[in-house]
Amino acid sequence: MKYNLDKRTFLKLFGITFFSFFLMPFKFANAVTKKVINENLTKKQKEIMFNEGTERPFTSDLLNEKREGFYHCANCGAKLFASTAKFDSGTGWPSFTEALPGAFKTKIDYSFGMRRIEYHCANCGVHHGHVFADGPNETGKRFCNNGLCLIFKPSSSN
Ligand SMILES: [Zn+2]
Repeated sequence: MKYNLDKRTFLKLFGITFFSFFLMPFKFANAVTKKVINENLTKKQKEIMFNEGTERPFTSDLLNEKREGFYHCANCGAKLFASTAKFDSGTGWPSFTEALPGAFKTKIDYSFGMRRIEYHCANCGVHHGHVFADGPNETGKRFCNNGLCLIFKPSSSN
């Protein structure tokens, strides 16, 4: 009887250790708390922001946006880019040479057989795009952002 109990305890502890070891990466992955703040997000916006999707190139209304102002997170409203950092990369996605300080957190994304640096809104954690090292100016960076994740607010309408 004593032996059975010990065996059961052992198996239980072993099981807990075993599963926590294997589930650890998932816990880390979910450590960035993403939650819907803007209840009006569309299905497509949610797919990009919460499942790291990508919008079709040349579909964003923001590609031709040239007014002065700031680009905000479509989910939480955090200020992410200044219009002065925007440039036409020809890729079909709104592109920027730099983000506002502390706007994003990055992580390495190995999907599609590529090694890319993905970035998330530092405030709400949602996916925005990827940053590449082939930018046109001294920052050397190119932030390739899904237009659906951004809301542009022109300076004049502050
Ligand atoms: Zn955000």
